[in-house]
Amino acid sequence: MPGWIDAHNHLHDPRLGSDPGTLILSMREAGITRCVVNATREEDWHHVLDLSSSLPDFVIPALGIHPWHAHTATRGWVERLKCLLENYPAAGIGECGLDRWVDTPTLDTQLPIFLQQIRLARQLDRPLTIHCLKAWGALDEAFAIEPPPRRFLMHSYGGSLETARILAKQGAWFSFSGYFLHPRKSAALNVFRALPSDKILLETDAPDMLPPTGFIHHPMPDGINHPANLPAIGQGLADALGITIAELRDLTNSNAERFLGRQNSPPHHG
Ligand SMILES: [Zn+2]
Repeated sequence: MPGWIDAHNHLHDPRLGSDPGTLILSMREAGITRCVVNATREEDWHHVLDLSSSLPDFVIPALGIHPWHAHTATRGWVERLKCLLENYPAAGIGECGLDRWVDTPTLDTQLPIFLQQIRLARQLDRPLTIHCLKAWGALDEAFAIEPPPRRFLMHSYGGSLETARILAKQGAWFSFSGYFLHPRKSAALNVFRALPSDKILLETDAPDMLPPTGFIHHPMPDGINHPANLPAIGQGLADALGITIAELRDLTNSNAERFLGRQNSPPHHG
């Protein structure tokens, strides 16, 4: 039986506590078999790599600089990132992107950091995880400067269906987070109903993107989203799509495996 795959979380985040072993035990008990753990700044990179080295079957690392931390990038960061990625062939790139919801850092600071990560993902053929909030025009302009890699994930996708269709043609996949189960976010849920089902992934974005109370099976204080809430979030999406929870689990598992490049090695011809 395929397990649940969390396409995007931040297991190394101190808000989830200092004991990843306990967190991961709860995740495994909930049927989660794998997750992509995303760094958000340089100082995270080694924490994420340490986690994946200790649990190589469970943690897929992604290394990047989030737009909120674009101003923290230090001299030589691209070379260091490239070097780490070459040493860790299973690692993706992320979380990176563009965000106009925050005032600082400004898009002028965010854009060059994002462009470098797009270029690296294309050069090394790694999956790229993109955060885009209220910056759809800027994303389009970024792709005009640096074409996207052949596959990239729009994580917690909250854009329009029209934008999704354009992005899908460029290689986009889309992950759904529990925050979209709030009734006020029904527009985002409706977009997922209309997306091609073979491009949908599921994520918690833990410790962020807390789902509504009914979908919280692992409560934590202070609005922290526990990564073991993933199957409950999957139940919410399954109901919206009119499929069973097992069908949703199998669909998002096989989509994630294809996105992560584990099932698409071309057949060898003699
Ligand atoms: Zn995230």
